[in-house]
Amino acid sequence: MSPTNRTSLAIVGAGPAGLTLAQFLRLKGYSAATLIEQADRVGGKSDSLDLGDIVAEMGTCYATGAHKDVVGWMKRQGGDLRILRKTTIDGAGLKDYIGDAGGPPLGAQVLSYLAKRDRLLKQLKRTPDKPSLLAEAAMPTDAWLAENKLPKMTRLMYRAITSLGYGYLNEVSIYQSMQWVDHHTILSGATGKLIMPAAGWSDFWNVLSQNFDVRLSSSILKIERSGQDSLLHFKDGTQLAAGALACTIPMDNWASLVNNPTADETAVAGAITWKGYATSLIVVENWFTSEDIRSFSKAFLPGSYPGQLISARYEGYSPDFGGHLYVTGQIPGDYTLPELRIFLERDLADLGASLVNVVNAKTWRYFPHYDLKAISAGLLGTMRGMQGQAGTWYTGATFSHESVANVSRFNKALTPALLARLKG
Ligand SMILES: Cc1cc2nc3c(=O)[nH]c(=O)nc-3n(C[C@H](O)[C@H](O)[C@H](O)COP(=O)(O)OP(=O)(O)OC[C@H]3O[C@@H](n4cnc5c(N)ncnc54)[C@H](O)[C@@H]3O)c2cc1C
Repeated sequence: MSPTNRTSLAIVGAGPAGLTLAQFLRLKGYSAATLIEQADRVGGKSDSLDLGDIVAEMGTCYATGAHKDVVGWMKRQGGDLRILRKTTIDGAGLKDYIGDAGGPPLGAQVLSYLAKRDRLLKQLKRTPDKPSLLAEAAMPTDAWLAENKLPKMTRLMYRAITSLGYGYLNEVSIYQSMQWVDHHTILSGATGKLIMPAAGWSDFWNVLSQNFDVRLSSSILKIERSGQDSLLHFKDGTQLAAGALACTIPMDNWASLVNNPTADETAVAGAITWKGYATSLIVVENWFTSEDIRSFSKAFLPGSYPGQLISARYEGYSPDFGGHLYVTGQIPGDYTLPELRIFLERDLADLGASLVNVVNAKTWRYFPHYDLKAISAGLLGTMRGMQGQAGTWYTGATFSHESVANVSRFNKALTPALLARLKG
């Protein structure tokens, strides 16, 4: 980078949000964006470990019907897709687990949930400040489902929300649960159709990123927003002028980079707590091999606590690593990785299996949890209304949901307004 150069759009972050935004813009004829990435690789929370015969995903794993555009791009890249075989809860089918709960048949509960979801989200768009709607959106997921007499949907949410590490149903607002649990998620759960790029998500993002001007290992010192252009200052002493900015990174990080955070940026940064998710790639003896994913209901039912083994994915047998490989998930709470390993060993022993080796483990900054009181006080309207303020556009997991499908769909919807501003 020369000491100062210029781009019409600087996209900060080259994770799924930055890359899918650049891709939607490119598909509409705009290819002038510059992506600024602090890491030495693209892909953000996608992290594929290539172990030879096996590619183990430590981060992003599955695509569903909701990932239509992303899966389309995977197919166009020509890579093979791995279709998963079977998902269970405690070794039994999802339908049995959900069916055990009371109330009307599952189909009726799903339709009732989808109709209520549709109503709430549409009304929130039409009248974003209406206190009764905000109070409903801020209800904890379990309380909303109980009030609406949907016990089978509560079980489905345990699987779709808690077992994916998004949090316990008494903590996550129904609004955030609704961002993820739509007809696509429910259908994918019912059909069990989950897709993974066989060469790994990291490979997919790497190939996609070759279409763009991506500046890796770029540490931003500060962003000056004043006048026509914003000026990004980098730790290596260089600068980049930008006609517009797209923020895909957590708002607290963003607010500490810009010289003049707006009131809305400060409000959003203060209303969000990043939770965690821990994944471990382990070798286990005497565990399941005839299914791909197993979740463990003990870890997401009321009374469960952080650290418990919540799910595991069978990755295959590796002679090099001396056994069957699995990627497990745990909600870490305040526990460190060595402490989480003790929980893992205990839970495996309870299941009759034994931990042989930990190949890799990491804790992710995961799931931007909206404060329930802030939702009641109008956070959602603030997040919608701030687009384009101070020459800045906001996207990523904070503004859509912690999933590639949501991030990508959000960007698709954002693209026309952003393009109009870039051309205007
Ligand atoms: C274990 C795990 C499993 C998951 N499974 C799935 C799944 O099955 N399906 C699915 O759809 N999603 C899944 N996800 C979620 C999905 O990976 C995330 O929602 C997605 O990565 C969010 O994309 P993002 O671009 O908003 O954020 P990130 O992926 O966090 O990317 C942000 C990028 O910005 C960069 N950055 C941060 N600060 C700066 C800065 N100051 N300057 C420059 N760059 C910066 C980061 O280095 C990073 O590359 C999973 C995530 C994890 C952790």
